[in-house]
Parts: sequence; C-alpha cells; structure tokens
Amino acid sequence: MEILSPRKPTREVQIGTASIGHGQPVLLQSMAATKTTDVEATAKTCERLRLAGAGLVRVAADSRRDAEALQAIRAKTTANLVVDLQENYRLAELVAPFVDKIRYNPGHLHHAEKEVSWQKKVAWLVDVCHKNACAIRIGVNCGSLGPNTENTQDGDNPMLRCALDSALKHAAFVDSLGFTQFCVSIKSSDPRMVVEANRRFSELRSDIPLHLGVTEAGMPPEGVFKSRVALEPLLSEGIGDTLRVSLTVPNERKNWEIEAGQEILRNVERGTTVSLANWKPSRLNIVSCPSCARVENERFIALAEEIRAAMLPFNMDSSSRKTLTIAVMGCRVNGPGETNHADLGLWCGPETVHFKRGEELLDRYSYGEIVPRLLDEVTHFVDTATE
Ligand code: SF4
Repeated sequence: MEILSPRKPTREVQIGTASIGHGQPVLLQSMAATKTTDVEATAKTCERLRLAGAGLVRVAADSRRDAEALQAIRAKTTANLVVDLQENYRLAELVAPFVDKIRYNPGHLHHAEKEVSWQKKVAWLVDVCHKNACAIRIGVNCGSLGPNTENTQDGDNPMLRCALDSALKHAAFVDSLGFTQFCVSIKSSDPRMVVEANRRFSELRSDIPLHLGVTEAGMPPEGVFKSRVALEPLLSEGIGDTLRVSLTVPNERKNWEIEAGQEILRNVERGTTVSLANWKPSRLNIVSCPSCARVENERFIALAEEIRAAMLPFNMDSSSRKTLTIAVMGCRVNGPGETNHADLGLWCGPETVHFKRGEELLDRYSYGEIVPRLLDEVTHFVDTATE
C-alpha cells in the first residue's frame, strides 16, 4: 500500500521478491506461530499470511531439525521468508539457503562462543548472507540488550541511549564490510521509546531502511492501539519502510497483524492518525509476546487473556496511583530477560509458569495456580502504591 507522505530516501534492500526502502510501499510482516517442524501447518500459515498481504513472513528456527523443516516449507510456499536467529547464531549457515532474510539481535550474540568477538560473529553472518543472497535485519530490542550496555550514563534515558548506540554501532560495522542489504529495527514495549529511538536513528542514518514495531504490544485491541500510537507518527514523518504489528493472538488469527498494519497505513494516508502526545499508559499495562513456534505450552494465549480478565477490577480501581506493568511471555528463550523491566513478570514453561517481581524469581506455579497467586501479589502492589 502506498503512503502519500514523502518517504525518507533510504537505500533499497531486496528481500526475495520484495524490496523495501527507496520509496517502495511499506512492506507488512507477520509471523507463523506453528511448530516449524510441522511443515504442513507452517507452510499453510505462510501462504495464508502471504494472501492476506504479508510481504514477508517470519518463521522460528532453533535447531538443525527446524532448518531441515525450513527446506520443505520453502518448497511449499512462495511467501518471502525471514528467520530470527536467537542464541545460536551459527544456525544461519543452515537456514540461509531457504530464506530471504535473517534477523540477528545484537543483544543475543554473546550467548554462544563467548570467546569470539561480536565483530567476528557479525562478519561471519554477513558472509553467510552474502553467499545466499539473504538480506539482514539488525534487530535491537530494549528488553534484550547485551551485557555491558546497560551502564551508560549518557542522556536522560539510558536504555534508549544503549539501544540506539547498539543499532548505530552494528549498522556502521556491517557497512564497513561493504554489505548494504540490511535494515535496522529498534523495538521496545513502550511506544514513546519506539518513536524517540527511531526518530533519532533516522536523523543520524537516514540512508538505512527501518523496520518499525512495538515489541510485545499485547492482545487486541490494546496491542493495536499501542502500535498505532508509535507507528503512525513515525510513518507520517516519512520514517519506516516495513512494519509488523505484533499481537498476542492464536496462529489462526495471525492475519489480524496484517489487517492492523493495513489500518495503520490507511490512517497515515488519510491523515487520521493518533497522537503520541495524548497517550499515556493505562493503569494496567499488560505486555505480552505475540507467540511463535517457541511457545512451550499451548495455554499461553488463554493464560494471557485470563490474566487480562482477572485484572479488570484493578484497571478500574482509581485508588491506585501507579501503573502496574505485567509481562507475560511464552517461552524460556526471551521470557527470563524480557520480564525484567516489568513490575510483575510471568514466563511460561511446559508445565509451570515462572513468576517474577522485577528481576527476582518468586517461584514457579502450575497453570491452574498462577492467576490467584498473581492476584495476591497485585493486592500487595496496590497496598504499597496507595500507602
Ligand atoms: S517470548 Fe518466546 S514464544 Fe514469545 S514471541 Fe518471543 S520467542 Fe516466541
């Protein structure tokens, strides 16, 4: 879909049959939440999303078996595919022949082969992508910044500064290798941070295409609104070449992410955008991941919905002055780190849910026990907030 407002003159990046940047229409993305090893279901989801308007579909790959499944998926869909490397960056070599783009997170590179510098790892990734005609996304996430990046004293928002520095540093390094087929994303669950970080990046590197998104935006309709608040102002300023609205919805409703993205583009086109200045988080801020193949228990989405319903009285209660942020994550890959900045965090394992207060792990509970336990803790939070 075209956007009428002028786009920033970013360089063109080819991703399979699509391209972003250089005035191309904004490309919409979504992700399959099926097990990648379930080839039929994943290929079907990719096709369904492609037909719904996704120019790029993400698939998770964490193992050799996932990489083998990708080969079969590739043969069954014409969707452009992207894989998100998590802690094992070496998988790139196995998946690159079957996808059109690889995303790496600078904050995750330190997990494997600690003795190898990040520069060597990135140079290796770039070489793999170059040989396989894959584009790259340098995907910085405020919830998973690498070690030694959280102590900066520079600026009024250290996390934003760290995320921005990380994106700039990696972009400059990839450039220095002579590789230009990459874009950058700087995501946060806070829309204000997404706007600020992307504005600043775009000012400093107006040549690099940006992938926009609010991470863990949550369930609709709140998740759609949070994404509108961040993405519509940016797109109106000509910033952003591709986007994903990440929603906590079951796999069969992943097309809602595309529909939400189309609505955002329409709003920008018509000038009916929402204003960031008039937005503030509601009393209850549930951040929940969009789910993917890594979800460890199918009950994750139902649990997120149950928590929202159980928390409704708190949201209406005007006696509490503080915003309560509850993070609900679907797996152990991103769950432990990405719950650290919430007041209360839950991340789902196969049988139990890990329950945290800030960075402190309180305990693990069964799926049947966790909601009453959460309500106890919320009562404590309200009492201390109103004292
Ligand atoms: S937290 Fe885990 S399950 Fe949720 S989207 Fe991220 S990787 Fe997937």
